[in-house]
Amino acid sequence: MYSDVVMEVGKKYFEELIDKMKAEKGVTQDVDLTADDLKELASQFKAEYKEKIGEDFPDDPKEQLMGAIKAVFRSWDNPRANVYRRDNDIPYSWGTAVNVQSMAFGNMGDDCGTGVAFTRDPATGEKKLMGEFLTNAQGEDVVAGVRTPMPIDQMADKFPEAFEQFKEVCKILEDHYRDMQDMEFTVENKKLYMLQTRNGKRTAQAALKIACDLVDEGARTEEEAVAMIDPRNLDTLLHPQFDANVLKETTPIAKALGASPGAACGKIVFTAEDTKEWAARGEKVVLGRLETSPEDIEGMKSAQGILTVRGGMTSHAAVVARGMGTCCVSGCGDIVMDEENKKFTLAGKEYHEGDPISIDGSTGNIYDGIIPTVDATIAGEFGRIMAWADKYRTMGVRTNADTPGDAKKARELGAEGIGLCRTEHMFFGDRIDAFREMICADTVEERAQALEKILPYQQGDFEQLFEAMEGDPVTIRFLDPPLHEFVPQTEEDIQKLADAQGKTVEEIEALIESLKEFNPMMGHRGCRLAVTYPEIAVMQTKAVIRAALAVKANHPDWDIVPEIMIPLVGELKELKYVKKTVVETADAEIAAAGIDMKYEVGTMIEIPRAALLADEIATEAEFFCFGTNDLTQMTYGFSRDDSSKFLEAYYDAKILENDPFAKLDQNGVGKLMKMAVKAGKETRPDLHCGICGEHGGDPSSVEFCNSIGLDYVSCSPFRVPIARLAAAQAAISQK
Ligand code: PEP
Ligand code: MG
Repeated sequence: MYSDVVMEVGKKYFEELIDKMKAEKGVTQDVDLTADDLKELASQFKAEYKEKIGEDFPDDPKEQLMGAIKAVFRSWDNPRANVYRRDNDIPYSWGTAVNVQSMAFGNMGDDCGTGVAFTRDPATGEKKLMGEFLTNAQGEDVVAGVRTPMPIDQMADKFPEAFEQFKEVCKILEDHYRDMQDMEFTVENKKLYMLQTRNGKRTAQAALKIACDLVDEGARTEEEAVAMIDPRNLDTLLHPQFDANVLKETTPIAKALGASPGAACGKIVFTAEDTKEWAARGEKVVLGRLETSPEDIEGMKSAQGILTVRGGMTSHAAVVARGMGTCCVSGCGDIVMDEENKKFTLAGKEYHEGDPISIDGSTGNIYDGIIPTVDATIAGEFGRIMAWADKYRTMGVRTNADTPGDAKKARELGAEGIGLCRTEHMFFGDRIDAFREMICADTVEERAQALEKILPYQQGDFEQLFEAMEGDPVTIRFLDPPLHEFVPQTEEDIQKLADAQGKTVEEIEALIESLKEFNPMMGHRGCRLAVTYPEIAVMQTKAVIRAALAVKANHPDWDIVPEIMIPLVGELKELKYVKKTVVETADAEIAAAGIDMKYEVGTMIEIPRAALLADEIATEAEFFCFGTNDLTQMTYGFSRDDSSKFLEAYYDAKILENDPFAKLDQNGVGKLMKMAVKAGKETRPDLHCGICGEHGGDPSSVEFCNSIGLDYVSCSPFRVPIARLAAAQAAISQK
């Protein structure tokens, strides 16, 4: 271990020597080697060390201790730790500590042992002691998954007194921390030593159950229970589960440990590198390994699920998968694995790279082929925690939804309105033709004709959005993207468009060419489209207002107030200009319908200039919604489409710790937001403000939004519960 961890020689060289020795002696377990074998092995290890390092293995304990301490400090900066911290919002600046304690030996004979235990089941949350131990072993042996440990209950037979004492200690620790504990212990000559305790990592399901149970046991308040749940973990509960009907008809081919719940299906791959590569190509993959190690982390992150041959509930694969919320089945000893040739045999069948497989991380069942999955629902303890979250939060949670299907899903997950409907996303599939005709029109008349075709589509979609939100706010953003994103690419599509417009292919190609821009993100997009083509804004206004009127006619009790949002405004006069078109059109529609209906016109704040001049902008805007994707892009000057190319280098150089497009840059972008809210509300006290960039679903960004007084956050449907919980936590901690 010293050679591996401190000197970084590489464990495999020593493992090879041990395996060779075991083969020579005809034994399978390390502990079956005799003292003489081990002496011989020790000298082989020392020789190996000397060959690799060029010096003798240090046998001065002080030197070893200093080496070990330095290795711990060094570990703070290794790539795995950096990736882990980035995923878990831990600042690099914290640094680490080293605790030096005297060694307790679990490997001095059969009255010794070592183990790990949880005071509650980390997979389900059930209140029962859970853990594993090994006799005549040291800590590393339990977690490495090399020997399969015994369930903790069997400790009662092996070390009855130590076990009784251990159970008492568990209770003391849990009562003190008022949370589930994850402990490591050693028994040395029957005497119990506690090595460490910490709040245990748990699945999302277990986190919810433990929090609810602690409230019922009187150990925690509702607010504390809400604060205990990591919102990022909820994600796993929202992922699909196997279709129960199909599952009933399917027999598992094997059963192992359900180490991290959820359902996963995909093509089997055998290395972390392959997992990453295949996933990058859009393949769903299940990573199959003998056992995993920290080197595999990045690959594990890209897998739908992880299947291991060795290791128990506390093995590396199990612990890491639970932390990531990735489904994991571990310890499937029935698999005959051939990692080198990328294949394994299970239940009489040989599985090769790319073969389909399904695994259930709750039951530990393994299935041949792909089992279809269904969406999850919010019920039971999940429902209880979310109800508490809603009780304590003060900020609203809306959703970014472009289609009626998204809107319905978001509603089920608790969205209180739509904060952003990107209208351009309504033009995929067969609707793209009419959209292209509009883009490639070169006269107002041609464009008007195309818009006539588009209007009914838009109106129909908007009606369904208003229906889905049942009178809650719906914010519809006018056309925003650079138009060239939608022009036809293939010869066939170009021909089709030419035919539809009675033009030649060359004419269409020339038009496409004319739409190309050097810097499309700062080009002809956003409100600039409505300035150059007011007829687009007219059509979109008609569609919104007509849809709202139609839905209101069916539901007179719903207080429908459509919110029309103008994107990418940087100058008051821009907004004024577009708003004039909107207001004239909307008022005419409402007057013609003879129904009394209010509507609002607001803007996105996504250009720094708009944030700087928010007091002016608010003279026209009835609401602000921070488009922090563009606001980050333009504040940092990082392209939102290309920044991944250099961000890794920024992390390595410690210039940035997180992707500012995922986690709000509170210092810079946040400062602009704070200023804009303050200035906007000074001009217009009833101005309502929200956020609809990607950050609206990121817990730490949600907390920031709460602190600057936003009225709501808006995020994609599956992040709505995360945002609800994060908003509650922000309100609770502010209180
Ligand atoms: C934004 O810029 O944050 C935003 C929500 O708009 P889009 O992502 O559509 O540019
Ligand atoms: Mg934007």
